[in-house]
Amino acid sequence: MKVPSPKLTFWERIYVVEIIRGLGVTMGHLLKNLFRQSEMPTVQFPEEIKPVATRHRSRHRLTVREDGTPKCVACMCCPTACPASCIHIIAQEADAPWKEKKPRVFEIDLLRCVFCGFCVEACPEDAIRMDTGEVTIVGTRREDFIVGLDFLLHGEGNAWREGRPEEKPQPGPGEPLLPPSTPEEESGRGPRQVLRPKLPSAWETVREVKP
Ligand code: SF4
Ligand code: SF4
Repeated sequence: MKVPSPKLTFWERIYVVEIIRGLGVTMGHLLKNLFRQSEMPTVQFPEEIKPVATRHRSRHRLTVREDGTPKCVACMCCPTACPASCIHIIAQEADAPWKEKKPRVFEIDLLRCVFCGFCVEACPEDAIRMDTGEVTIVGTRREDFIVGLDFLLHGEGNAWREGRPEEKPQPGPGEPLLPPSTPEEESGRGPRQVLRPKLPSAWETVREVKP
C-alpha cells in the first residue's frame, strides 16, 4: 500500500514556524494546568485513585454465603480452566449435608495469573469474582503474591496496602498442617517430602504427583 507524503509548504519546510507553533501548544497546556488545576487530565496517584470500569478484571475474591462460609465447593473447575495453572486447591469434606466438599487450601499465584477471567466463567457457584477494583498489587517477595483463602475471602478492595491478613492454616479434623503426602511416601518408598504451599516450587511438586 502506497502512503502519499503530504506536500509541505515553504514555511513548513524550514521548521521554524512549526517549532514555534508546537511550543505554543505546550505553553498553552502549561498555563492551563497552572491556573485551572481542577481541569487537569492527570491524576495524583496514589493519593487519588480513578475508579476502574465495572467490567475490569481486577484482583480475585471468593464470595461467601449468608452464614459467612465460602460459596466454593472445591469442584476444581477453575484450576482446570486456568490457562496459567496458577490456582491451587486442596479440598476437604464439607460439614454441611447439602455440599460435598469445601476448600482447605485455595491459593492463587497472582504473578502467574494473566487475568483472563476464565476461572470466573468456569465457576458453577459464582464463588470467585474479579471485581475488587484492586489493580495495584505490591509485594517485595514472590510469596507476597500467592494469596490464600483468608485473603481472598476477607481482603477486600485496597486492603492490600494496609497489610495482608495473616493466612491461617485450615487443616481438617485429624489432618496434618501440611498438604497431603505423596504416593511414594504413602507406599513407604522414598524420604518424606516436605511440601510448603507458600512456595511456587511446591506447587510444581503437588502438580507432578500422579493419582
Ligand atoms: S484470571 Fe485466568 S489466569 Fe488468572 S487465575 Fe483466573 S483463569 Fe487463571
Ligand atoms: S470453580 Fe468455583 S466452586 Fe469450583 S473450585 Fe473454583 S471457585 Fe470453587
